[in-house]
Amino acid sequence: MPIIVQKYGGTSVADTERIKNVARRLVAARGEGYQVVAVISAMGDTTDELLAMAHDISAEPPERELDMLLSTGERVSVALLAMAIHELGQTAISLSGNQAGIQTNTVHTKARITGVETRRLIEELDSGKIVLVAGFQGVSPEEDVTTLGRGGSDTTAVALAAALEAQQCEIYTDVDGVYTADPRIVADARRIAAVSYGEMLEMAATGAEVLMLRSVEYAQKYGVPLHVRSSFTDQPGTWVREEDENMEKAVVSAVTHTDDESKLTLLRVPDRPGVAATVFGALAGENVNVDMIIQNVSEQGTTDISFTVNQPELPAAQKALDALSDELGVAYIIGEQMGKVSIVGAGMKSYPGVAAKMFKTLADAGINIEMISTSSIKVSCVIERAQVEDAVRALHTAFALG
Ligand code: ADP
Ligand code: ASP
Ligand code: MG
Repeated sequence: MPIIVQKYGGTSVADTERIKNVARRLVAARGEGYQVVAVISAMGDTTDELLAMAHDISAEPPERELDMLLSTGERVSVALLAMAIHELGQTAISLSGNQAGIQTNTVHTKARITGVETRRLIEELDSGKIVLVAGFQGVSPEEDVTTLGRGGSDTTAVALAAALEAQQCEIYTDVDGVYTADPRIVADARRIAAVSYGEMLEMAATGAEVLMLRSVEYAQKYGVPLHVRSSFTDQPGTWVREEDENMEKAVVSAVTHTDDESKLTLLRVPDRPGVAATVFGALAGENVNVDMIIQNVSEQGTTDISFTVNQPELPAAQKALDALSDELGVAYIIGEQMGKVSIVGAGMKSYPGVAAKMFKTLADAGINIEMISTSSIKVSCVIERAQVEDAVRALHTAFALG
């Protein structure tokens, strides 16, 4: 019997009625002759609420304990869903990430999956059960609970689909696919029928939160096609897969954005070999993900280096820099309220002038660009956070994506 992996996000299981809806969908998939594995997120805003409680108690909660706390959200969902499926007369079993064999490294709150031990999953599937796996979590070599970072249930689903060689991996969410821009911001955003892994990677990396970046990397690495679709309808959604002839060859396929960037600028850093290695080594030591980096020309033996981090990682970044300040004697300034807009499209590789058009569009909207970075299929601009939504709408119109 072919295996299907379905993932349901938080909105799709936000209350008990919606959990019953998901139960019906899973029983239907079983009825179509699939062995069914479902990966479930925490209900609604549970993860945010748990995080808020932790931060009420501690400014810097120990990350091991955060993982213990956050992993409970997904456990609530799978247990309730198993009960709902039993009510429908089917057998199901809920499993924690650990019980489902999801092994990770020890980087608490953003652990990476290192392997999946499928023995238990296969036993349960072979005994006819629908298997419900708590998303977003695993177990470290020290046998501690870990979580995979925000949106991590997507990655759980892809990892299970790869390990079980599933025939399908469906990501059910509250939109009916991947859009040309966040539909919450752009009213005339359009669903994209199919998008390549490469474009989806850039989109996820630049803020299209509909798929977690790591899940797309994993899908590409193991060749798992993804179908992103709505849990409220039966309409087809968006296929994420290897690039092929049938995909739209748009110069620009989508506009993406983030609104939680902070910019740090190190002033008058000594311009000699090893300094950047020291600075970014220290940041890596605090597990800070650095996004954009710009180093200016050197004047009188010193230079300025600017970079961006996700705002939640700002305290860790400051900690790393403060520890270095004695060694390097550098001062830094912070721009806390920043965001980023990006345009992504496989077609821009062979099309000059795309970046220029982006900059002109932002200029015409009175938006100042603070930093720029490019790849062969993406251009990103860091701008003031308050202007992000206007920038997204202006670019979506300028590139005729509506
Ligand atoms: P889930 O809880 O199902 O994992 P998420 O909230 O993580 O759902 O992701 C879905 C949301 O992503 C949508 O509600 C939408 O507002 C947002 N989003 C941002 N950019 C895009 C995009 N380009 N296409 C579709 N959705 C997007
Ligand atoms: N519940 C987790 C989060 O809110 C994981 C997920 O939903 O994918 O980030
Ligand atoms: Mg998500």
